[in-house]
Amino acid sequence: MTSHIMPTYGRLPVTFERGEGAWLFDDDNNRYLDALSGIAVCSLGHAHPAVHKAICEQSKKLLHTSNLYRIPAQEQLADRLVKKSGMDNVFFCNSGAEANEAAIKLARKYGHERGIENPAIIVMDKSFHGRTLATLSATGNPKVQQGFAPLVEGFIRVPYNDIKAIELAIQQDKNIVAILVEPIQGEGGVNIPADDYLNTVRILCDQHDLLMMLDEIQTGVGRTGKFLAFQYNGILPDVCTLAKALGNGVPIGACLARGNAAKLLTAGAHGSTFGGNPLACSAALAVLAVMDEDNLIESAEQKGNIICSGFTERLQKNTHVIDIRHKGLMIGIELNKPCTQLVTLALMQHLLINVTNETTIRLLPPLIIDNQQINLLIDILSTLIDEFTK
Ligand SMILES: *Cc1c(COP(=O)(O)O)cnc(C)c1O
Repeated sequence: MTSHIMPTYGRLPVTFERGEGAWLFDDDNNRYLDALSGIAVCSLGHAHPAVHKAICEQSKKLLHTSNLYRIPAQEQLADRLVKKSGMDNVFFCNSGAEANEAAIKLARKYGHERGIENPAIIVMDKSFHGRTLATLSATGNPKVQQGFAPLVEGFIRVPYNDIKAIELAIQQDKNIVAILVEPIQGEGGVNIPADDYLNTVRILCDQHDLLMMLDEIQTGVGRTGKFLAFQYNGILPDVCTLAKALGNGVPIGACLARGNAAKLLTAGAHGSTFGGNPLACSAALAVLAVMDEDNLIESAEQKGNIICSGFTERLQKNTHVIDIRHKGLMIGIELNKPCTQLVTLALMQHLLINVTNETTIRLLPPLIIDNQQINLLIDILSTLIDEFTK
């Protein structure tokens, strides 16, 4: 049935027809608990009435005009994002990779304006920044790059959560203009750095006039219990990218900038046909409104704590479970052996999860998950992990 689709994905044998909150229903009307949210996208759950309403109402008026004209919903969304983030302005696009492309172009422009002809950006091992040529070149996963050489130049790679390695790279290369880093690595295995890692990166960027660029595409928009993960550190980056949860499933990406970085991409320097169109911006405005009204971001922190203490208690005797870590509702359960099979085993139990970096179960449940669903998640998955490691 899918023979005319390029085989770029290994798909699980299930077809979902509709959703309701944290539940998905397949074509036989079986119910599944979604603990992945379409990889951190549907944070408000499926078929949220406020998002539905915003999309319907906007579609009666206009779907798209063009960035040749003013777009009120885009201006409102930029206002909301600037207020919630402490950044100065926003460029809108349609995906995470595009948001990072904007950030990378911005860093290069910054370099050129300072007379650096071959600007370079420090990036991390095990990072993930997207699948376009520039973003896959920035990504620290050989599998993502394999077969696509020549890669885009201008990236210097260092280990994650290693300040000394950044200092050394800065000393050795006068062309460095920026550091691009995820506050928590998602695809790389839910890797949470030291509490003060981002603070030290901020200091280094200030000392050496580098742009601090945070990829918050997975961590952002409430996932970790703050609107943006860097808000745990009390700092501001120069550039910050968003996508995934911003539209709850309607494609939208954003590159936020601050201070001098906000002045670099001028008329004609960058653009996107669809970026920030009325439909996508109306959806995102509805998402932000619901998150505020329902206090979902604060509750993400509490729910994350409840889920992780639940797993810690249930799995404390299992010696194959070597770490349970989380920030808000970005959760990793690391085993001492490869466990990709668990994805299919969980699907058979009507639970949707993910495994990253071979050995880490990744959970990204919707922020609206309720107590009963939390208990069900802990129950099904703990039992599965115990059986799998027996
Ligand atoms: C998903 C993701 C991306 C890529 O986003 P796309 O919308 O798939 O292009 C980039 N960075 C991080 C951290 C991500 O999680």
